[in-house]
Amino acid sequence: MATTATEAATLGDFSQYLPTFATVEEERLHRKQRLAAGFRLFGKYGFDEGVAGHITARDPEHLDQFWVNPFGMNFKHIRVSDLVRVDRNGKVVEGNASVNTAAFAIHSQVHEARPDVVAAAHSHSLHGKAWSSLGRLLDPLTQDACAFYDDHSLFDDYTGVVLDLEEGKRIAHALGDHKAVILRNHGLLTVGHSVDEAVWWFITMERTCQAQLLAEAAGTPVLISPEAAQHTAGQVGGHVAGWFSFSPLYDWIVREQPDLLD
Ligand SMILES: [Zn+2]
Repeated sequence: MATTATEAATLGDFSQYLPTFATVEEERLHRKQRLAAGFRLFGKYGFDEGVAGHITARDPEHLDQFWVNPFGMNFKHIRVSDLVRVDRNGKVVEGNASVNTAAFAIHSQVHEARPDVVAAAHSHSLHGKAWSSLGRLLDPLTQDACAFYDDHSLFDDYTGVVLDLEEGKRIAHALGDHKAVILRNHGLLTVGHSVDEAVWWFITMERTCQAQLLAEAAGTPVLISPEAAQHTAGQVGGHVAGWFSFSPLYDWIVREQPDLLD
């Protein structure tokens, strides 16, 4: 979704604060720092479940390669220096660890199908996976939920752990040009034009699933009208809004756990 005039007016024109880089090395380091912080936040929010879950960041120079977490390492321990880079064939080209086969199968196909996507996030977070079992899209119940209004989809075909590229391709196809896809009986997957954005959408989507589960358990929630949901999506659901929403979380986790930058 492009930044709209409404969004710029509502949030201020934060696009002027988007980082620029003098060299590709600087941009790579910036993405890796955001990625390591994303893992620490996933750990902080309890989105880890054993060895499941992955966030990827496209390399700014080698566009068919991406950075990902080392397989089996706790999100809460991941530092910039722990991240590994894989090529389009799943071969580790930088870093000393293996990569989760499912991470490669899903993320390589998402990055390939969506050249605009810099980062993709997936984990087996509790409320996301509970919601996914219902096989339904999220409703516009809250202002935050409107970020996903008309901008997420459902992958309605669970067959087991995603190990082959064909299934990754089908997930990428289900994602389409949206910011998120609900993988039925599995969990959530979000993407963004920055690591910041993909991580933010994941965090707020997980909480949106929690909010809808709570609301429906308690009664019959009132939906926001389609017109108001569309309008609000323009205010809270754009790339810059997503990027900016991540910044207080980044500041928080770096101040609390500065070793993530090592
Ligand atoms: Zn998974």
